[in-house]
Parts: sequence; structure tokens; C-alpha cells
Amino acid sequence: MPDLHPITRQLLEWYRVHARPLPWRESPHPYATWLSEVILQQTRVETGTAYWHRFLEQYPTVKDLAEAPIESVMRSWKGLGYYSRARNLHAAAKAVMDQRDGQLPILAADWRALPGIGDYTAAAIASICHGEAVPVVDGNVQRVLSRLFDIADPVDRKSGRDAIRAWSEALVSEATPGASNQAWMELGALVCKPRNPACPDCPVREACLARQRGTWADRPVKQPKKKQVTMTVDFDVAIRKVDSRWEWWVERRPDRGIWGGLESFPATLTEGAGRDRDPQSVWGPVDHILTHRRLTGWFHLHTGDAASDLARCHPGGSWIPLDDADRAWPRMVDKVLPELRSRAVKN
Ligand code: SF4
Repeated sequence: MPDLHPITRQLLEWYRVHARPLPWRESPHPYATWLSEVILQQTRVETGTAYWHRFLEQYPTVKDLAEAPIESVMRSWKGLGYYSRARNLHAAAKAVMDQRDGQLPILAADWRALPGIGDYTAAAIASICHGEAVPVVDGNVQRVLSRLFDIADPVDRKSGRDAIRAWSEALVSEATPGASNQAWMELGALVCKPRNPACPDCPVREACLARQRGTWADRPVKQPKKKQVTMTVDFDVAIRKVDSRWEWWVERRPDRGIWGGLESFPATLTEGAGRDRDPQSVWGPVDHILTHRRLTGWFHLHTGDAASDLARCHPGGSWIPLDDADRAWPRMVDKVLPELRSRAVKN
């Protein structure tokens, strides 16, 4: 392998022995690889594998995925969080059917042109399934390379990003880019972990500058996190009884913004610290933390004319049975549903 950087050679030898036998690695197909890359972006392998199998069963081809209603895709995603991934997956599948006659792209640049597919996913699929020599940079790779070359620039700023990219391009194997990309990610997942990297087991330890200089705990450098915004959320829960069946009014949230595309009771978000007690509320406070938001939720019950008025003011919703479990709710709502159900019917 004459093109290989010595570091990449050591890495690939290690990968041949230590790669985990993950199901999508067995005979990589672009559609299945795409699914695995999207699912694993914010999800642990153990959890993601079960979802990956289920997704392939429910939507065996890109055509099946494109033709499925978005609500069904969102429900299949339930439990994985970061629902924008499901929305983008669905939109990209539709674009493949509508604009590419059902043909999945081959080159990373063409994958990149699909909705919601970034550099990382495009490069992963193109290198793993089609042997295109483009480097993949995810959080694992960032961490390993920033330690290996002791990069002191923040990796979420241009200078740091450029340094990581330059090294990742220099180290990608021309002959087996899929293996070398996966090997970097695997090294980050199994050995060069965020805390306590297993340096004695690391195949590139001889070259590692952070290990030599004792700086590994400070790499990668990141800019200070954005301050969390505190918000209060008032959920209006309209209920009614039809014959002997209880129903509540549920609407689909707009695709953009908080809980985009999920189903929820009509909600009003107000910036600022929540109240300690709300005498009007049937249930609360319910605390919930999102990436940049700290939320306090209050649930208000409406019956009779008030419930009908509320439904009229939110014409995009519909009455659904209280016991309909097959819905993609925001986690904050999902966790209080049993309590809300029992309070609603007691009311
Ligand atoms: S030697 Fe340690 S710090 Fe350096 S890349 Fe390997 S595991 Fe990470």
C-alpha cells in the first residue's frame, strides 16, 4: 500500500483486528449505510442497531421510505430524539425519488446536495460504499486528531476545523478510504475516549503529541458553550367524551423550531423563569432540559365549550383517543402522559 501514511498503516492494522462486527458493515449498501449513519449521529450503537433493523424492515428501500407518510416515519423514530434527522431522512428520500429517478447518489458531492445531508454523512457513504477517497470528520475523529497532533485551536472555530480537515485529508487511505474513515471513528469510540483514553492500547501512541506533552485532557479545545435559555411552556389540553370514549385535541407542530414535526397539545412558549406554582394548572411544574433550553411545563385542562373553542383556534389538529399510544410526542409531554390521562378522565 504505497500511498499510506505510516500512521494510517498502523491504524488499519489495528482496525482489522479490533473493528466491531456491526451489521451494516457486513456488505455495505448505500441505503442501509445512509440509515446507519443518520441513526448513529446522536445515538449509541447499542440502541441504534435495533432501530436500524426496524427501519429496514419497515422501509426496505428508499422508495418505501419516500412513500411513507411523515407521521409514520416520525413514529418509527420515537425514542431516538433529535427528530430533525427523521424529517430530513424522509425529505431526502423524496428528493431521490422525485429528482433522481430513485437512484441514490454515488459521489459525496451529490449526496451533499440532498436535503439535510452534511459533509459527514455524504463522505461516510461515498467512502464506505463507493471507495471515494474523502475523509470523514465526526466528533470521534475530531477528538483523536486534535490529540494526535495536539491542536490547540478550538475545533468549532475555522482555524481548528481547518487543521483537523487538513490532517484528515492527509491521512485518508486512497485505496481503502471506507476502512480508514471507519478506523478513525472506531479508535475514538473504543480507545481514545473523551475521558480516560486507553493510550497503552492505542495503535498511534508513538506519534501522539498530546500523550507526549500530557495535554490529552485539554483536547479537543472548544469554545465556551452558549448559555441556556430558560422558558415556560403552557400546554392547553382540551378533552371531550364521545359516547364512552375520551379524546384530546392534538396538533402537529410546525417543521421548524422546537419539537418540529412532533405531535403535541397546543403549546405557548414564553421566555423567562417559570412560576413556582400555577393554581390554574392541572399538572406541573414539569422540568425538562434541551440542548440550549431549560423548560418548565404547565398543563392546563379544558372541557366543554372551552375545549371546543380551543380546538377551533387550532384548526390543524384533530381529536384523538386518550389511549392512542402510537404518537410521536415531545419527550417532555410523553413522560407525563399517564398522569395526564388519569387526571383528565377524573376531572
Ligand atoms: S495515544 Fe492516547 S491520546 Fe493519543 S490518540 Fe491514542 S488514545 Fe488518544
